[in-house]
Amino acid sequence: MSDTEKPAPSNFIRNIIDADFASNKNEGRVHTRFPPEPNGYLHIGHAKSICLNFGVAQDYKGLCNLRFDDTNPHKENIEYVTAIKEDVQWLGFDWEDRLFFSSDYFQQLHDYAVALIKKGKAYVCELSAEEIREYRGTLTEPGKASPNRDRSVEENLELFEQMRAGKFPDGSKVLRTKIDMASPNMNLRDPAIYRIRHGVVHHQTGEEWCIYPMYDFTHCLSDAIEGITHSLCTLEFEDHRPLYDWFLDTLETPQHPQQIEFSRLSLQYTVTSKRKLTQLVENGYVHGWDDPRLPTIAGLRRRGYTPTALRTFCERIGITKADNTVEMALLESCIREDLDKNAMRRMAVLHPLKVIIENYPEDKVELLDAANHPKDESKGSRKVPLSREVYIDTNDFREEASRKFKRLVSGGEVRLRNAYVIRCNEIIKDEHGEIIELRCSYDPDTLGANPEGRKVKGVIHWVSAQHALPAEIRLYDRLFTHPTPDAAKEDKEFTAYLNPNSLHTLTNCYVESNLAEAAPGEQFQFEREGYFCLDTGGLSEGVLVYNRTVGLRDSWAKIEQKS
Ligand code: ATP
Ligand code: MG
Repeated sequence: MSDTEKPAPSNFIRNIIDADFASNKNEGRVHTRFPPEPNGYLHIGHAKSICLNFGVAQDYKGLCNLRFDDTNPHKENIEYVTAIKEDVQWLGFDWEDRLFFSSDYFQQLHDYAVALIKKGKAYVCELSAEEIREYRGTLTEPGKASPNRDRSVEENLELFEQMRAGKFPDGSKVLRTKIDMASPNMNLRDPAIYRIRHGVVHHQTGEEWCIYPMYDFTHCLSDAIEGITHSLCTLEFEDHRPLYDWFLDTLETPQHPQQIEFSRLSLQYTVTSKRKLTQLVENGYVHGWDDPRLPTIAGLRRRGYTPTALRTFCERIGITKADNTVEMALLESCIREDLDKNAMRRMAVLHPLKVIIENYPEDKVELLDAANHPKDESKGSRKVPLSREVYIDTNDFREEASRKFKRLVSGGEVRLRNAYVIRCNEIIKDEHGEIIELRCSYDPDTLGANPEGRKVKGVIHWVSAQHALPAEIRLYDRLFTHPTPDAAKEDKEFTAYLNPNSLHTLTNCYVESNLAEAAPGEQFQFEREGYFCLDTGGLSEGVLVYNRTVGLRDSWAKIEQKS
């Protein structure tokens, strides 16, 4: 899905496909798939794989399937299936009528297993899981044959049928391939391909099966069944490729998909592993899979990320075989670029300080013109109400003047954006000496362009107190304090590096009244503060909840220097 007509940048996978075209391999067909296991929500790493698989199919006029590799009903559920479909669609990709489940093929996979038994290439093994592990040997020592390795084909067929019929308890038997117990590749030492699982209700097949095929067996054969030409996957499956090839060759499947591995995406200051994300969600370190601090697609969406920004990011990181950890600044620059161009401008005050404009008539309200975008007139303008009492940000006022401070100071002047120049005449403090209010006056001749000769140091944002809407604003910081929490010191759990200040909630904010109609997820630039969107929850106790997507400038460079 390129947003412009320019072709996607090339990479080694596209080069392989180009060569396949040239040699008319697969009769010029390109068919890929995105194959998630429905055991968690998708994260930004999956976005890389989705963009690659669907992107390649699109660019080569091929097809891409969405297939759930659902072989582990214990860890899977329909909530994940639904969420994954939503995320792929939201990213802008369409599997059309090609939504599949490996469980659609359970009968066929069973028949493949029977075919292996008949070829003398699979046997029912009664060793316990622990014994199987012991017998497997090590990287330096060959494995030992199971005492059941030479069972007759007839006996194996009968036992496997009884396994299927529910005659044996969990863990008592497995079906294993007969490959090579001395192979230097551990994956080829007679891996199990079927196990017994009673009492689980599979989200697709219910209680139809009490034996389940293992992932490796299922994955490559599902690809073959679907006529996949190029099985694109991450590098950890490189060592599994000889096993996949063995299955496909031994079973003489009509299609032999070509597996090509690329490196996983890792992102600094976060984790991209479903197992770790599950831990964060289940142990309450974050508030659900769509917590805006998570690198899940659902979390990024709630945070205000756009599909375009994520697709641009995936294009920029590219596809290689080299392991690398991408800087968060790159992801943020993609969303900033998109929102700078497309987000409407609004005003919001995060740390309100009341300003009374004493010479402004008490019951007067003016509706002032404000452009929705400084560089894009087609986005139009809005009316912003001004009245006698406004809020400005506490940080935009200082009692003492200093050369560098270009905003409001005692006795000084500043322009209210889209409105007039005001002068601060008096500071009101509470009994602790805290400033609680400013008394100002305005110059009615200063609306619009700065009249000549008048020196006003700065322009600040504001909202009319009478009209503004109360809001809660959530500011997010990196989720971890370590750039690679995964690879941090071995004696520490990755959760030891969670940033205790990753969420900072401001509860007494005000946003301009035009935001009353904003829809959840709609992005805005709050002028001088960053990019924000209304949270999916929208209101919390009558207060609008806004998430900050990202600040206006790159704050990561600073963090890098500090740490
Ligand atoms: P995790 O390790 O996070 O649990 P997984 O690989 O088990 O992820 P799957 O649901 O099996 O998750 O992934 C579906 C596809 O997405 C696979 O082809 C996998 O290679 C790819 N994928 C997963 N994580 C990444 C990543 N970080 N970068 C690129 N591709 C990824
Ligand atoms: Mg996986």
